[in-house]
This record gives sequence, structure tokens and C-alpha cells, in this order.
Amino acid sequence: MRVPVSLSRVKPKQGDPLAPPLVVTSTYHLSGDPTGQPYTYGRNANPTWTALEAAHDAVCGAKTVAFASGLAASAAVLDFVLPRGALVAAPSDAYYALRSLIQARGYNARFVPSVAPLAFAEAAAGAAMVWVETPTNPGLDVVELRATADACKAAGALLVVDNTLATAAGQDPFAFGADIVVLSATKATSGHSDAVIGLVLARDQAIVEKLKAARTLGGAIPGSLEAWLCLRGLRTLELRMERSSASALAVAQSLTAHAVRYPGLPTHPHHAIAKRQMRHFGPVLTFDLATKDRADRFCAALEQIAEATSFGGTETTLERRARWGGDAVSPGLLRVSVGLEEPAQLIAEIHRAIAAAQADRR
Ligand code: PLP
Repeated sequence: MRVPVSLSRVKPKQGDPLAPPLVVTSTYHLSGDPTGQPYTYGRNANPTWTALEAAHDAVCGAKTVAFASGLAASAAVLDFVLPRGALVAAPSDAYYALRSLIQARGYNARFVPSVAPLAFAEAAAGAAMVWVETPTNPGLDVVELRATADACKAAGALLVVDNTLATAAGQDPFAFGADIVVLSATKATSGHSDAVIGLVLARDQAIVEKLKAARTLGGAIPGSLEAWLCLRGLRTLELRMERSSASALAVAQSLTAHAVRYPGLPTHPHHAIAKRQMRHFGPVLTFDLATKDRADRFCAALEQIAEATSFGGTETTLERRARWGGDAVSPGLLRVSVGLEEPAQLIAEIHRAIAAAQADRR
């Protein structure tokens, strides 16, 4: 599914601004009976959210509901779609805050490692919901979506796909049978490292209504500025994903001596599945310098790449992932988010810092 560069579907009238308006208001002029009015109060609806959701709907062929963050979006799915006490099968190696949320709220969960592409198809029996992340962060495992969706259907379970890493431009989980798609749009969907925002999508109107109720009753609403920034990011999503994925592949190809992992590399164990499911392999790759000290020296030697968590921005960033302690990753593993810079320059900078880290053994 291609993301249109221009999102304006209506021919503009003379004098119309080309950029959509940023609407900042807590309430609306509303006289008389409010029944059926789209804009009543700032926690219920906002025209900038509506513009973002409509643009994302057009890209995905599903209904989008925007939230304050990716985690707020995930919490809304668990709190308002998963029946109380029902079983959710979820990745034991999912984004660590999701695992913490599932544990903190005491959901009935079966944790499954994502390393085998069919692990979730096998875990669907008896579950009301199967939650997968593909590719996973930071493991970069790929879950076989079609077989998982078929197993979920047979088991009567809803399939939720966290599509944060690939975005709507890189992968369409609905085409493989997903029921709900969750995105931390904080990452490549917004794409400029300036907004924290989440999106949930569904095709079933009853689920969409539950998600809207989750937002209004839970109160985890997106700021209108963040919605506007995300909408602006959508305009270039396709171009950014195309460029950052091509550059990530070039960077990955240069790192084969360092246990590199990238779904776009033919040597990735799940590459064939990734090729079937993904249009772009995404901006994230990992490589391993084996020890904490060497990875720290590498980071200290970088001059042009910032050490930062998160991913999917216009600028390349990286971090030694084990510094957070939440993931079962090697102490020398570096997660890189490749941006829009000239790839040859990035490759030179990374290899200069690797050489410095290997030379400096203090
Ligand atoms: N899902 C994935 C795969 C993530 O990487 C993240 C954040 O890093 C989230 C969800 C949570 O999103 P947010 O930080 O926007 O709340």
C-alpha cells in the first residue's frame, strides 16, 4: 500500500491554506442539543486528530484512532478490547514497556519468544488475543503473519500486530489477516523525533467504537500539535521509508563481520518471510561488538551520530541497547536507526568508530 505524497483529496478553494490547520482548543461553540455533533469537548474530539486519522485511514484502508503515545494505544487495546480474565499470548521479547504493562496490570498472559516465526500460530489455541510485534524491537525477528492470522481465526482469537518498526508504508498487516494494528507513531510514522503519539487501527466498527471509548474514558488523548506533526510526517512517510530502508541495507551489508541483523539481508534467518510481508525492511538494524567496553568505546568515538534511544527519525541514531537492562540482549549489541543522510558518510563514520574502539583497549 503506497502512502500518497499529497494527502489533499478535495480540490482546494481559492485562498485555502495548503497545510491543514492546527486546532488548539479545549471546547467548541455548541448551542442546543449536542446529539450527533462531531465536536463537543476537547477530550472527545479535535479537528486536527480527525485530519490525521482520515489521512492514515486512506493509507491503510482501516479506521485509525490516535492516542497520547504508542503505549497508551497498546493499553487501550488491552483495557477495552481484551475481555477481563481472558488469555493474551504476547511476546516475551516484545518492547519492554508492553511486557511491564501486561505484568503490572495483571492480565492473564502467556509469554512466547518471537524467535520462531510460527511461535504465535502455535500459541493461539485457548487465547482470546494474540499480540505480535514484527519485526521485533530490538531482536528484529519476523513473525509469519498469514499462518498466525489463520491460527487465530481457527482459535477465535483476535490478532494484534505492533507495526511500529515497519509503519504503514513498510507492511500492511491487514492484508495478512490482522484484526488490530498498533503503532508507536513516535517512531518512523511521525519520523522527525519531535512528537510522542500512538495510533490504533481496526476494520471492525465495534472494535473502533471500543477504542474511541478507551480514549474518551481513559483520557490518553493526543496533543493537537503532536497530531499535526504526525500528519506532516505522513506526507513523506513513503519517501523516508524507501530511503532509510535502502541506507539501512547498505549499512548492514558493510557490517557482516560484526554479527549484523537486518530483515532485509538475505542472511537473516527470516528474510524469506520478511520479503513476502514487507515492502520496506525499515530503518533499524543491530550489530554486536561483543563486549560492553568495546561498545562503549565505539559510542564515545562517534562524532556525527547521536547516541539516543527510540528510532525512525530523519537523523541516524544508535545506542548500546543493554544499557537499559530491560531486554535480554548481548552487552555489546548496538541498535542503529538509519536516517536520511548520505549512506557512504554513515558507513565511513561507523567503521571509523569501530576501528577506534578496537584500537583503544584501555
Ligand atoms: N511498540 C514498540 C515496538 C516500541 O518500540 C515502542 C517504543 O519504543 C512502543 C510500542 C511504545 O511507544 P511510545 O513510546 O510511543 O509510547
